[in-house]
Amino acid sequence: MIFKKHLFCPVCGNRLKKGNPLCEHCGFAWAAENPFKNVPETSGRTGWSSLKCDIRFKKYKRDHITIILIWAISLAFLIPGILLITGNISKDESWVAVILAIMFLGIGFVSAVSVRRKGTEWVGTVIDKYDNRTAGSNRYTIYFLTEDYTQVIKNYSSNIKYDYFKISDLVRMHDNGLIRYLEKFDKSQDEIIFCAACNYLMDIRADYCQACGCPLLK
Ligand SMILES: [Zn+2]
Ligand SMILES: [Zn+2]
Repeated sequence: MIFKKHLFCPVCGNRLKKGNPLCEHCGFAWAAENPFKNVPETSGRTGWSSLKCDIRFKKYKRDHITIILIWAISLAFLIPGILLITGNISKDESWVAVILAIMFLGIGFVSAVSVRRKGTEWVGTVIDKYDNRTAGSNRYTIYFLTEDYTQVIKNYSSNIKYDYFKISDLVRMHDNGLIRYLEKFDKSQDEIIFCAACNYLMDIRADYCQACGCPLLK
């Protein structure tokens, strides 16, 4: 399997230095052709991970919110500024520029707040899977039944998650304002895992996401 983003060490989670084939912190040879060759093929565990409130998820969310706010503030100055300079908004209409600025700040603020919104958490079982590709849409559907007998339907645009979840798998939906992630109870037979923060596809033998540095729930 090819994993392209190498920003963080998959073994210790620290940031990797470009040009150094070894992690500076733990010595892991991340650039090697088969970096996990000494780790057992199925290192996934059975049971719920205890890391769902890890400090790195908090930092990931904080960075995400900072980027949204920087964008909103930049646009709030830039767009009205350009419109004023190019004469698209005349001096007498400068209130339009103010309204535009307030609008960008408002959108930024609402998006930043929604990043930390909590959802419904549940535990359930995969009861059915359906490959809808023949219906013309490139969609895969999985049906879950929660412990309180509510049906949850999830659609995926690729087959990776569709293949990842098997019928009768026990799963837990984490939606705690830090991560929105479906964790499998039994990962002992898996070769892959997804990052709960950025959804990056990782080798199950890794402990951290190499794209964002968050711990893997395995
Ligand atoms: Zn390392
Ligand atoms: Zn990640």
